[in-house]
Amino acid sequence: MNNDVYDVAILGGGPTGLFGVFYAGMRHMKTVVIDSLPELGGQLMALYPEKYVYDVGGFPKILAKDLAAGLVEQAMRFDPTVALQETVHGLDRVDDELWKLTTDENEYLTRTVVISAGIGAFEPRRLKVEGLERFEGNGVQYLVRDKSALAGQRIMIVGGGDSALDWALNLQEIAKSLMLIHRREGFRAHEATIKAVQESGKCPILTHYEIRSVTGNSRIESVTIFDNRTDEEQTHEIDALLINVGFKADLGPIKSWGLEMEKNGIVVNDKMETALPGVYAAGDVTQHAGKLDLIATGFGEVAVAVNFAKHYIDPTARAFPGHSTDEKWKEN
Ligand SMILES: Cc1cc2nc3c(=O)[nH]c(=O)nc-3n(C[C@H](O)[C@H](O)[C@H](O)COP(=O)(O)OP(=O)(O)OC[C@H]3O[C@@H](n4cnc5c(N)ncnc54)[C@H](O)[C@@H]3O)c2cc1C
Repeated sequence: MNNDVYDVAILGGGPTGLFGVFYAGMRHMKTVVIDSLPELGGQLMALYPEKYVYDVGGFPKILAKDLAAGLVEQAMRFDPTVALQETVHGLDRVDDELWKLTTDENEYLTRTVVISAGIGAFEPRRLKVEGLERFEGNGVQYLVRDKSALAGQRIMIVGGGDSALDWALNLQEIAKSLMLIHRREGFRAHEATIKAVQESGKCPILTHYEIRSVTGNSRIESVTIFDNRTDEEQTHEIDALLINVGFKADLGPIKSWGLEMEKNGIVVNDKMETALPGVYAAGDVTQHAGKLDLIATGFGEVAVAVNFAKHYIDPTARAFPGHSTDEKWKEN
């Protein structure tokens, strides 16, 4: 048990949660942020670190990983407690004032909670091919954390969605060679991206192909694929296998905490309050009339959630935080 008592526990360190951590610090709230992933940043870091984001105010164009780094820097300004690789399983009322959050490692006591769990604790869908698992991290990857690590490599991409096709385009300038296989004829990716990959001439696309087997010693060295209509096989020597066949996300235990749920989201009111006293929600995880799953809307929602959480624990404190340009927020 962590013996501290927090003013706010922020469940989820994605863009929404990180901006909430900053606001909580600005309101002098003792804050803990908890995330099941090994690093902060949520979907920005886990799903598309190397993609440009164009629709966050003030940034005409910014790489998702750079946006995450800026959010982390801003969030750390007031020294919050950061608990990574901890999944929150339980939310229980201790008394009229306190909630207890239970993770696989710890228990946290807190006066208020902001749930910014996004689409839930998520992980990539894995392919079931014998022996594939042993090359994970040694040539086989489901996410691209660092694009430069793939420079000069012979890369096979698996998948037909946006991620697969985006990488088929984005890796062209650094890969030694590229090819993409997809088990169906049709793609789920954006039409313009498919067209761009086809027209580039730099990434052959094989449809109706699936992986039959992989070989290698310490790293993956070759992949045998087969045509699922004719069973005809091809073997390709590769250095990297990038599998982009989607993600599984699960709100899991959050659904059993007595929150009002609708369309897999937590129902909130205008103050981002949930059905539980002192428990707020913000970002992708919420459901309300004006819901848009965007980074920009998550920022607004969490600013509301944290400021009303401040007012909830101290009714003499106004919800409106004042302006960060005020004298009192000056750098010291
Ligand atoms: C490929 C792609 C491109 C996108 N492009 C854009 C774009 O251009 N512009 C835009 O505005 N939006 C974009 N989005 C959407 C945007 O990423 C999301 O709206 C945003 O990430 C939501 O932020 P969040 O903090 O609410 O949730 P998330 O980013 O999902 O973060 C939630 C965090 O909570 C953690 N968590 C969940 N459950 C638990 C638990 N039980 N215990 C501990 N931790 C938990 C998760 O591990 C995660 O880190 C894109 C999304 C994708 C997939």
